Amino acid sequence: MFGTKMLYGAAYYPEHWERKHWARDAKLMKQAGFNVVRVGEFAWWNFEPREGVFDFTWLDDAIAGLYENGISTIIGTPTATIPAWMAKAYPHVMGMDDKGVRRPFGVRKDYCVLQPDFDRLAMRVVERVAAHYADDKRVIGFQTDNEFGSSRCRCGLCHEHFRKFLQRRYGTIDRINKEYGTWFWGAVYNSFDEIDLPTPACPNPSHGLDFKRFASFVDIEHQSKQIKLLRKLAPRKLITHNLMGLFSDIEYYEFCKDLDFVSWDSYPGNNTENRFADDSLAHAVMWSMKQANVLIMEKQSGPGGWTTYAPATAPGEQSMLAWQSIARGADGISYFRWRTSISGQEQYWHGIINHDNVPRRRYREVATMGKDVARLSSAIIGTEPVRQVGIYNNYDQIWATEYQHQNNDDPIRFNLVMREMAEALLLLGVDIGSFGDGQKLKDYKALVCPPLYLSNPKLVADLTAYVRAGGHLVLTARSGVKTINNKNLMQPLPGPFAELAGVEIDEYAVLPKDADWKVELPQGSIKTKRIREHLLVKKGTEIIGIHRGDYMDGLPAITKHKVGKGCVWYVGTLPSAADWRLLFQLILPGAKVDFRTDIPTGIEIAHRSAKGRQLTFVLNHAGKSQIVRLAGTATDLLGGKKCDGRVELPPYGVAVLNGRA
Ligand SMILES: [Zn+2]
Repeated sequence: MFGTKMLYGAAYYPEHWERKHWARDAKLMKQAGFNVVRVGEFAWWNFEPREGVFDFTWLDDAIAGLYENGISTIIGTPTATIPAWMAKAYPHVMGMDDKGVRRPFGVRKDYCVLQPDFDRLAMRVVERVAAHYADDKRVIGFQTDNEFGSSRCRCGLCHEHFRKFLQRRYGTIDRINKEYGTWFWGAVYNSFDEIDLPTPACPNPSHGLDFKRFASFVDIEHQSKQIKLLRKLAPRKLITHNLMGLFSDIEYYEFCKDLDFVSWDSYPGNNTENRFADDSLAHAVMWSMKQANVLIMEKQSGPGGWTTYAPATAPGEQSMLAWQSIARGADGISYFRWRTSISGQEQYWHGIINHDNVPRRRYREVATMGKDVARLSSAIIGTEPVRQVGIYNNYDQIWATEYQHQNNDDPIRFNLVMREMAEALLLLGVDIGSFGDGQKLKDYKALVCPPLYLSNPKLVADLTAYVRAGGHLVLTARSGVKTINNKNLMQPLPGPFAELAGVEIDEYAVLPKDADWKVELPQGSIKTKRIREHLLVKKGTEIIGIHRGDYMDGLPAITKHKVGKGCVWYVGTLPSAADWRLLFQLILPGAKVDFRTDIPTGIEIAHRSAKGRQLTFVLNHAGKSQIVRLAGTATDLLGGKKCDGRVELPPYGVAVLNGRA
């Protein structure tokens, strides 16, 4: 993606520090192996201290000093915070909350992107930045804004734009009444003028889903305007944005279409059990956006926090987490941030260097990692994460199950189930990937789908074609329930998936958290969780699991249905990650997916490959030494040792093994 070298660096804010610090900063960065920094994404005031008065000298000088030390720059367009002069001169640009009160100035993302005065001034500053750095060889490219998606405005203009959005989506008022089912509570609309943004409390679920779609669309449109300007004025520069992993307020597939590459901000926290499951899933999801390797634009470099701060990472832990990103498809790591800010809201968001400006343990660790990254670059660049099992990701499904999670005690949320399925697969050492609508499926040995609550006809067709051609597919309870616009279907469950699954749901019931019922399997059993469904089994469908307990005792719960050259599993409950781990041991052998059951707790194994070469990353997330069995002999490219049948890792240790071990 970036040539033959991995990128390595940090977010840097020269405008936060007196110039006397800059030369030493650049020198220390060089010593730590940096070749890139990101700058500028909150520096609107520095670029334009008074309306229409621009100044680039400060950044020109900072960039020059960095480049002399071999460090290139990625510039964030500075639209994530507006200057105070704008809030004063154009008070209507400030965002509005659901009580109709304008937000006060002083926090990031406190404005309304749809206000024409904001738009005009934002596009002008983007234009000036793009034009100024278009031919500057020291600048690799641009990051649009910063972490889109964190504000939601409800001003009059937003209501108006929402109406236009619906008009484009549905065309006629009759269609929207039908799609929403507005006959309920007599909420029928005579014209689009009568539609407002939905109540935040408990909207009609179809109306609520469209608000989520609209809010996402607003950010996508705003970014798209920035990208068009950047492309026009600086056509040779790369364009990216720093996404936020499993953050779900934006339809990221659409959002990423016009970016050259995906970068994202990874803050795994510290010392949480099986933390790596969430973070590895986030890596898979981010990789899937453009089905290409990514840059970690912000990697946790110390305890994060505003008024308080998180516990510190232990020695070695920060580097291990950076290696995890590389193992999962990052071709570059940029930490957040170089030095901890001495002022402002994020005073306790710790950088590589503390407030005292003395390089200590975290700096030394980053510098060691810098040497290792440079040394291993040629072995890693060109490889991609191996993906044997694909996990479905879809934002409409996430949003619909946010509004109606169906079970008070134990929510049925698409992304919760996605995380549990991922955790189970990762604990078995399976190489996971993530897929969205319309992506290529045939290379996956198996696909697993969290509840396909909304029906998407294209997805039904794609999954059917995948299975007929020999794929193995796992479907879960509460699939095929609703239309794509969040209204229940009037047909037997699992709706459009019934034919593929070879079952019909006779009855379903949500379960309290303390329900103690089971599904009996050929070997052992799993606990029923969140919901249980009684499956009516069609001819040719094999019963694998039987409900035990209460009135569904003895009835089918889990089935397997051969379709064409492949097969479909239907799981009539939504079990815990630990129980998915058991279930996958039944499902994966038929699909010829590689997995193992002897991975010690806290050990993560991931693979990257290219034609003719493979790498195995073994990461120890535990604070104790651990031994991991290997299939044969391999060389640890990181430690330089030969490993014969096993590798021993110190607390938070990492091995990068040559070959598939
Ligand atoms: Zn607004």
